[in-house]
Amino acid sequence: MADDSCTHIQAITDIKQPHKRVCEECVKIGARWVHLRTCQQCNATLCCDSSPNQHATKHAHSSGHPVIASAERGERWLYCYPDDAFAEY
Ligand SMILES: [Zn+2]
Ligand SMILES: [Zn+2]
Ligand SMILES: [Zn+2]
Repeated sequence: MADDSCTHIQAITDIKQPHKRVCEECVKIGARWVHLRTCQQCNATLCCDSSPNQHATKHAHSSGHPVIASAERGERWLYCYPDDAFAEY
């Protein structure tokens, strides 16, 4: 369950699911991605750190939105950047 030290994940009650299973930023530049993550603040779906452009991490740092969820089918977890906290749901 959620790490007690992370209030960001504790505050999430409904997991935001991706609108489309694409990285919104990679689509604009014609890039490829490996896995997808969905920002739990603004619902942007972006690519993971295994992807060349790492848009989810860039988004978290530039926007200050702390928590992402995996947008991969069958994966049910949240990650908080500022606390480096991981939680399954
Ligand atoms: Zn947190
Ligand atoms: Zn991307
Ligand atoms: Zn966001």
